[in-house]
Amino acid sequence: MPDRSFLAWPFFEERHRALAREVEHFASHHLAGMESTPGEVDETCRELVRCLADAGLLRHVVPAARDGADPRLDVRALALIRETLARFAALADFAFAMQGLGSGAISLFGCPQQRRAYLPEVAAGRKIAAFALSEREAGSDVAALATTAEPDGGGFVLNGAKTWISNGGIADFYVVFARTGEAPGARGLSAFIVDAERPGLAMAERIELIAPHPLATLRFEDCRVPRAQLLGEPGQGFKIALATLDVFRPTVGAAALGFARRALDEALARAASRQLFGGPLADLQMVQGKLADMAVAIDAAALLVYRAAWAKDAGAERITREAAMAKLFATEAAQRVIDDAVQLHGGQGVVAGHPVERLYREVRALRIYEGASEVQKVVIARQTLAAHAKERAQAAHHEGEAARRAT
Ligand SMILES: Cc1cc2nc3c(=O)[nH]c(=O)nc-3n(C[C@H](O)[C@H](O)[C@H](O)COP(=O)(O)OP(=O)(O)OC[C@H]3O[C@@H](n4cnc5c(N)ncnc54)[C@H](O)[C@@H]3O)c2cc1C
Repeated sequence: MPDRSFLAWPFFEERHRALAREVEHFASHHLAGMESTPGEVDETCRELVRCLADAGLLRHVVPAARDGADPRLDVRALALIRETLARFAALADFAFAMQGLGSGAISLFGCPQQRRAYLPEVAAGRKIAAFALSEREAGSDVAALATTAEPDGGGFVLNGAKTWISNGGIADFYVVFARTGEAPGARGLSAFIVDAERPGLAMAERIELIAPHPLATLRFEDCRVPRAQLLGEPGQGFKIALATLDVFRPTVGAAALGFARRALDEALARAASRQLFGGPLADLQMVQGKLADMAVAIDAAALLVYRAAWAKDAGAERITREAAMAKLFATEAAQRVIDDAVQLHGGQGVVAGHPVERLYREVRALRIYEGASEVQKVVIARQTLAAHAKERAQAAHHEGEAARRAT
């Protein structure tokens, strides 16, 4: 059982602690020991979406699905759920997160008709959602996006290809970002809801990963989309993508945190039970040093993740810097913690199917998607430099004022 003392931190309210207990109960009954082979991964994901819906957990990822409910996403709740699901089964976290990421733009920017048409279906697990931003030549560099959406009659015609699309091939709809050309670069993009069965949209290629989940390249060939499927205004696509990622980025850190907590649990059990040189592995000081590093990294990651989530919930319009710090630190720390856990397991740690071997494969992609670690560093550095420049300008202004008063 991992350390739960963090739930007493002031970031949380009583409803979060109750939710953490509820998710723990769900996960220990439905997910413990869950595994799926690559061939079964699509069906496992569909089942997981249904199971998460039946348990009522998807309502947290689409709060706007219910009339009269508070439509705001509770980022602390999302992070707690992701952390717990990831600790038990990576695919369960994936299925949960993608229902949120895929529908997030509709929750945040959809008109009432769009919300009514999609969000209740997502919350009930009847529609699977996906987020289609990346392209072969436009991953980190979103401004290079080349898929076009040309106005045509009452709608738009999409042409191009999207790749690395999670839930690609099993999704019922995709939120697709395409160039409408209102301005150069990232400011000339728009977002559309495209139903999977729309003529002109096809899965071009399935991509297999080191830790399998549904992932595909999509092709759009003269794919007509009615204007009613446009999210927000033409030209708002980049803003919509960033605002959606802003909410979900800290929760990627939360998933990494769940993986790391599981790795520490496995490492503690191993260190306590493995006898070496006449005593338990845990008695060796170098092992204790590793365990201490793992525990510190986990607490530091948790502080950054829940700080970002709390800041958003407390009303901050943007949490760009906090979200980038949380994602960067938690994913990098989880990679190190898991590597240490593999090391402490010796040969067992690299046996296919062992929990720490699975974690070793599962954590890797988190340092790449939703903004690679280097991209997060660029974001943090820009924000820090901008804050410094603002402070200097303010100080210069005050000095000028003081000098004027003195003369
Ligand atoms: C498992 C998985 C699931 C994904 N799911 C989705 C999805 O559902 N929807 C979607 O739209 N996309 C998805 N992606 C795409 C993901 O967001 C991109 O892979 C990511 O943005 C990186 O883009 P790229 O792969 O083109 O790498 P590139 O942009 O070519 O970058 C390669 C590397 O260059 C380095 N780099 C990048 N920028 C900088 C910089 N400014 N300074 C220094 N170094 C830098 C980083 O190390 C980066 O990893 C997914 C990717 C993966 C692996």
